[in-house]
Amino acid sequence: MTTLTGYAVAAVSSEAPMSRIAREMNHEFADAAWQESHAVTRVDQLREWMVSGAARNQMRDVELGLARATMAMRITPYILNLIDWSNFFQDPIRKQFIPLGSEILPSHPLLKLDSLRERETSPVEGLVHRYHDKALLLATDRCPVYCRFCTRSYSVGLDTQSVSKRRTSPFQSRWDAIMAYLRATPVIVDVVVSGGDCFRLKPSRLLAIGMDLLSVSSIRRIRFATKGLAVLPMKVTSDHEWTDALVNVSDAGRTRGVEVSFHTHFNHPVEITDYTMAAAELLFKRGIRMRNQSVLMAGVNDDPEVMKQLVKRLSDLHIQPYYVYTCDLVDGIEHMRCSVRLACQIEKAVRGITAGYNTPSFVVDSPGGGGKRDVHSFEHYDRQTGLAVYRAPSVRPDQLFTYPDPLQSLSQDAQAAWLDPQRAKRLLSDAVEAAGAKWMEV
Ligand code: SF4
Repeated sequence: MTTLTGYAVAAVSSEAPMSRIAREMNHEFADAAWQESHAVTRVDQLREWMVSGAARNQMRDVELGLARATMAMRITPYILNLIDWSNFFQDPIRKQFIPLGSEILPSHPLLKLDSLRERETSPVEGLVHRYHDKALLLATDRCPVYCRFCTRSYSVGLDTQSVSKRRTSPFQSRWDAIMAYLRATPVIVDVVVSGGDCFRLKPSRLLAIGMDLLSVSSIRRIRFATKGLAVLPMKVTSDHEWTDALVNVSDAGRTRGVEVSFHTHFNHPVEITDYTMAAAELLFKRGIRMRNQSVLMAGVNDDPEVMKQLVKRLSDLHIQPYYVYTCDLVDGIEHMRCSVRLACQIEKAVRGITAGYNTPSFVVDSPGGGGKRDVHSFEHYDRQTGLAVYRAPSVRPDQLFTYPDPLQSLSQDAQAAWLDPQRAKRLLSDAVEAAGAKWMEV
């Protein structure tokens, strides 16, 4: 059993983070390798954590949740230690990583696996080219943790009972094709390295990817996207080779006039601890530009006060709050999605609490591949049917994109309409026509 008595992760202690971490540096809990090797991936390991409070006797519920989940389980001891097990059902960290069968609601009928249609816009395996001047590089299909709400559930992590993952070929065998495409497509000036998560890349691979991208003269910006700082911050303070690789790429980029940045994924202020503060401080001092992308989720951060606190605390760490996404359509997480209306309300509450450049844009990543749209920018939004219609003139000018509110936010009658294929088709065609376009069935 992984016993963590005495390892409690204080959200913030009065001691300066760097000195506390330095003092604990020999402690195994502060070691990323220990965290990774003790990550919980099986139900029997999780059982050992669920021995008290509201969590006791809930294993069957977890097993039912996992049976339906699109993502395998992988949770670091650090994250498990942040869960308030006495508040098991409501805890915002638990909700992101441990599914419960009793929470799962029927998915919206517009749900599709790979809802953003990334595979359709991949000119070479492992590279998504949807926006004109930007590409998304899928460098790995592994992460330090697996989130229930992952958009890329079609390919990231291990197979689950409900999803056989679409594996990409080993990275090295597709790397030459990716580089050839980037060199031959100078319109691409911005590359996001994601996956999966760059925290799972070996330092040598991280360095090689960064340096190879820097060798493409047309690329002006490189972003490493990671959940790692939120779930395994001790990687930065204990895996010096990895952190040096990141800093070396960043420094080399600066010398060549290329911005290299680090995009984090914090969803709740509780995720910011002394470990996070030490890691963020180290990265800031070593010149790493950081921005954060959150996902808006019911029961996690769908509260203006929680979001305001998150924005403030990230700003204090010099992590610029950049985006808040409405939750994508993913099977088994309908209960975590929020309506467009609620996203607009929270955005209004947050705007004005701090400097504009530290105020995140609230966006819908439009299903079907329209890319990110400002949540307020719908052409049409019917609160009764819960359907918002967006245009994406710079991405796909001839198409409209719809984002549906979660079924449970609608009236009984509207829910019944969505569950009837003929009436659902009518809801779609009415919304598209109300947005000023002609309905064309595809
Ligand atoms: S860390 Fe990112 S890519 Fe990995 S499971 Fe979570 S959301 Fe998906």
